[in-house]
Amino acid sequence: MRRGMVLGVLLALGGLVAVKAQPPAADAPKVIEVEKVKDNLYVLRGGGGNTAVFITATGVVVVDAKNPGWGTPILNKIKELTPKPVTTLINTHTHGDHVSGNVEFPATIDFIAQENTKANMEKMQIFKEHNGVGMAKRTFKDKMTVGKGPDQIDLYYFGPGHTNGDAWVVFPALRVVHSGDIFANKGLPLIDSDNGGSVLHIHESLNKAFNGIKNVDTIINGHTPKNTTWAELKEFADYNQDFLKWAQAGLQAGKTPQQLADEGWKVPEKYTGYQPMVQAPKTPPATPPLFGGLAGRIQTLQKEMKK
Ligand SMILES: [Zn+2]
Repeated sequence: MRRGMVLGVLLALGGLVAVKAQPPAADAPKVIEVEKVKDNLYVLRGGGGNTAVFITATGVVVVDAKNPGWGTPILNKIKELTPKPVTTLINTHTHGDHVSGNVEFPATIDFIAQENTKANMEKMQIFKEHNGVGMAKRTFKDKMTVGKGPDQIDLYYFGPGHTNGDAWVVFPALRVVHSGDIFANKGLPLIDSDNGGSVLHIHESLNKAFNGIKNVDTIINGHTPKNTTWAELKEFADYNQDFLKWAQAGLQAGKTPQQLADEGWKVPEKYTGYQPMVQAPKTPPATPPLFGGLAGRIQTLQKEMKK
């Protein structure tokens, strides 16, 4: 995992986790790589979560704003792509590597997020420090449509996963969706239980998205260097369900989360391209894994199963 993302998530946790890694130097160059997905849709990579830039007839809609200090580099990069003004910023979820750049966007534009994400953002220090600039102004619960015709964007929420406010941002005319971190990459997803994420239900939310969103070919994932296909979302949902079955069976057999983590989950071979599950190291790493690593994830599940 890249350090930028680690930092961003730690920031999102409001410093609850001890950070031993040194942050990158403030003057380190902020390099953004641009991928053209369609004539009017780009992905900006680097500096945190993947940012989508959608150029409409009336202005630019941005999805996610990366780590602190990356809002201005995003805005500068957009100026190289189009003379149109940025009108809207949509956040996929509350984490610091997706929302921190918000505070550098013009305060007058439209900021949109799922309603639980807005509530989570309101707990974040960065928005308190900036008097609420960049905070979501408009929210939705399950679905919202912005714009129409070729400029239409459909926003969906299908239930808890990475957090309790993971928005799916669909560009129907382009058959593309930005999934945020509920499908960040091909590996076990991070589950932020403090912000309502769910190990028990993420596969259901993923399947609801797969079945509920129609006519999509391409996914801009939260953190992958390459976009994925719609079929890969189904595979990812199955992968999460298989992990859940393994963890639940182990807990029901009386094993502790730590015992299960030490044994490790053997990823079924049909999941090609997935990061292997790393065995727990014998000596603790310098930086504790996010959300307690594999053991923490199973512990979260154990708590959810007792509810
Ligand atoms: Zn995240």
